[in-house]
Amino acid sequence: MKTYTIAAIPGDGIGTEVVSAGIEVLNALAQREGGFAFKVDHFDWGGEYYKKHGRMMPENGRDLIRKHDAILFGSAGHPEIPDHITLWGLRLAICQPFDQYANVRPTRILPGITSPLRNVTDKELDWVIVRENSEGEYAGVGGRAHQGSSLEVATDVAMFTRAGVERIMRFAFRLARSRPRKKLTVVTKSNAQRHAMVMWDEIAAQVAAEFKDVTWDKMLVDAMTMRMVIKPETIDTVVATNLHADILSDLAAALAGSLGIAPTANLNPEREFPSMFEPIHGSAFDIMGKGIANPVGTFWSGVMMLEHLGEKTAGARLMKAIERVTADKRFHTPDLGGKATTKEVTAAVIEAIKGANA
Ligand code: NAD
Ligand code: MN
Repeated sequence: MKTYTIAAIPGDGIGTEVVSAGIEVLNALAQREGGFAFKVDHFDWGGEYYKKHGRMMPENGRDLIRKHDAILFGSAGHPEIPDHITLWGLRLAICQPFDQYANVRPTRILPGITSPLRNVTDKELDWVIVRENSEGEYAGVGGRAHQGSSLEVATDVAMFTRAGVERIMRFAFRLARSRPRKKLTVVTKSNAQRHAMVMWDEIAAQVAAEFKDVTWDKMLVDAMTMRMVIKPETIDTVVATNLHADILSDLAAALAGSLGIAPTANLNPEREFPSMFEPIHGSAFDIMGKGIANPVGTFWSGVMMLEHLGEKTAGARLMKAIERVTADKRFHTPDLGGKATTKEVTAAVIEAIKGANA
C-alpha cells in the first residue's frame, strides 16, 4: 500500500480549525478508497510559535518538510503580530525557496451556492486563475531609510525575470490547453507600468506562438475586474502577476459565493520540492475559535493535492462528496448564510465519502 507523507502546517486562527477538518476528511477518503494511506506530520509553526521562539518556524524548518509528498497549509496571520512578519516568516518562507512558482486558483459556483452576481450559472463562471508566485511585486526587493524622519523613504521594487515570466506563461498556456475551452486571458498593466509589464506582454505573445490551439487575449487588470463582474462567461483560464492575481482571486472567490470555499495549490511543477495546498482565506480573526469556519476551501484544496499526487479517482470522489454537501443548505456555514458548524460540515462530507460512488 502506498503511503503519502503530508506535512500539516495549520498556522493560526481558523487555519487550525480547517486543517484538522481537512485531515479528518483525507483519512476517511483514504479508508474508503483503499490502496493508499496518509502519514500526517504536524508542525505547530505560526504566531504562537513566534511568541515563544521569536520566529515563525525553526531555522531548519524547510529541511523538516523537504521530503514530504505534499504540504497542507492553514493560514499565517496572528492578531498580535504584524502581517508582514507572519506572511514572510512562514508562507512565503516556504513558497519561494521551494520554488512553488505556479499558484493555481480554480473558481466555480458549487451546487447549492448562490453567486452575488444576478443570473450567473455554474456553467458561465468556471475559471482558473494562475498566479505567478515567485517574483514580481512580492519579490521582497526594496528598503527603507531615514525611518521616522521627514526624509523617510521606502521602496518595493517589482522584479520580473524573463525565465520567471516564460515559465508561468508556459504553465498557464498548458493549463488552458487542458481545459475544454482552450482559452487564456493574460492580465497586464502595461499602459502604466512601462518596463516589466511590457516585457510580460512580449513574452506572453512569444509563448502563445507555441500554443496555436489556445485562443488568448490580453486585458488590463482594472478592466479585468469589470469583466469578471459584467461578462463572467467570457473568461476561462487567466494568468496574472503575483499582486494582480492575489487581488483578482479574492474577487473571484467572492463572486463564486464565499472566500471560505476557495482552494489553491502552490505548485513546484518540476517536483523538485513538495507543493503546498491551502484555502485562499486567512486566519479570520473575527470568527476564530467559534467553530463556524467554512472548511470547504480546505477540502477542495485536498482535491487539488490528490490530483497532484496522481490519485485522480480519489480526488473526483472527494469533489463529488463536497458538492453533495454544498447542495444541501443545512450544511451551509454562516459565511454562506447558513447555521452549520465546521464539525457538521466535516461530518457530512465524511458521510458523503462513504456513500459516494464516484
Ligand atoms: P481573511 O481571509 O482571514 O478574512 C476575510 C473575511 O472572510 C473575514 O470576515 C472572515 O471571517 C471571512 N472568512 C475567511 N475565511 C473564512 C472561512 N473559511 N469561513 C468563513 N468565513 C471566512 O482575511 P483578512 O481578514 O484580511 O486577514 C486576517 C489575517 O489572515 C491577516 O493576518 C492576514 O495577513 C492573514 N492572511 C493569511 C493568508 C495566508 O496565510 N494564505 C491569506 C490571507 C490573509
Ligand atoms: Mn490573498
